[in-house]
Amino acid sequence: DLPLSEVDPEIAAVLDAELGRQRDTLEMIASENFAPRAVLEAQGSVLTNKYAEGYPGKRYYGGCEHVDVAEELARTRVKELFGAEHANVQPHSGATANAAAMHALIRGGDGILGLELAHGGHLTHGMKINFSGRMYDVSAYGVDPQTFRVDMDVVRATALQARPKLIIAGWSAYPRHLDFEAFRSIADEVGAYLMVDMAHFAGLVAAGLHPSPVPHADVVTSTVHKTLAGPRSGVILSKAEHAKKIDSAVFPGQQGGPLMHVIAGKAVAFKVAGSPEFAERQQRTLEGAKIVAERLTASDAAEAGISVLTGGTDVHLVLVDLRNSQLNGQEAEDRLHEVGITVNRNAVPFDPRPPVVTSGLRIGTPALATRGFGAAEFTEVADVIALALKPEFDADALRARVAKLTAEFPLYPSAKSFA
Ligand code: PLP
Repeated sequence: DLPLSEVDPEIAAVLDAELGRQRDTLEMIASENFAPRAVLEAQGSVLTNKYAEGYPGKRYYGGCEHVDVAEELARTRVKELFGAEHANVQPHSGATANAAAMHALIRGGDGILGLELAHGGHLTHGMKINFSGRMYDVSAYGVDPQTFRVDMDVVRATALQARPKLIIAGWSAYPRHLDFEAFRSIADEVGAYLMVDMAHFAGLVAAGLHPSPVPHADVVTSTVHKTLAGPRSGVILSKAEHAKKIDSAVFPGQQGGPLMHVIAGKAVAFKVAGSPEFAERQQRTLEGAKIVAERLTASDAAEAGISVLTGGTDVHLVLVDLRNSQLNGQEAEDRLHEVGITVNRNAVPFDPRPPVVTSGLRIGTPALATRGFGAAEFTEVADVIALALKPEFDADALRARVAKLTAEFPLYPSAKSFA
């Protein structure tokens, strides 16, 4: 019964150092967030000890009476949160949720149609060496070269030509809403299932600040750790008619024992996501992204060759376009890292620079909104970013401005250490 710090001081030091890093820098990776302490507690619990293959009330192991309660709470809460007919909360991650959803609906060799990876799609939507690209016959739609938006006429024409069995709507890097109704009608026209991967924007949907894909899609998959701010994991929502197939595709189709400690964390996260405080935070997330987009399209940013794809954002992220900047994506990411802001470089569609350097940045606001940032702080961060991306910049001055913000908004204030 020894604490981590005694059993393994090296790993304890990693935890402490990472807590320090999260506290002392500004986290703007669009897919990251800070799970509430309550979620961390559920995850770091004795539920990690329990095998529970099967589903609540139908397990292949004894002693599941308590974990059944946790899984039932998670299922009920997420169904209510999104108005879904069925939920499976067992996927270990977003990628395995997508694998299971595809496994449930289509067979190896069938056609899938998703957003091009280089235009903001995800690996699991048909990338060549991902399971999705190896098992299925992939076709893809891209964004329009002028507007950088998904053009539903192009999606329709591609679908009519490729005749996929499954159409995927969803993205990892795209700053606008997708038209789920139009996707539904195209899927119906070609006789395909519609799967929406809302991994990125699920928190916005939960708060009623983004159109919901749930009424339109056969299956909706998501991660739980991005805008939803829960434990790192996945979830699948579906129409009742697909419930049995989804459940058997997850277990025993894809996975063995569910991670009951993570499922308990999901239950907590879904509860929190139904609260007015969560909705208010998503509002600040959106407002922050709009402010960042505005400041990075202002005239002095434009002078440095910086702009924002599609000219703005409807969601929690901004795609910075550096095609006309002296800095490439790698250099811009490094500059921001130097001043204490963490983002990731990201290829822009039709990127002239190689994928290792790229001509873009993906900047997200969910983690800072969780930290408490509002319009004033997002304005300050956006200005720091704009200054850091100019040809000449004063790293010390910008670092000091970042330090002021991190001090004003302490992260996990009651935790001395998690080790
Ligand atoms: N789907 C989308 C749209 C994503 O952006 C991601 C993660 O980046 C995933 C799925 C995969 O999630 P995970 O990393 O949990 O496997």
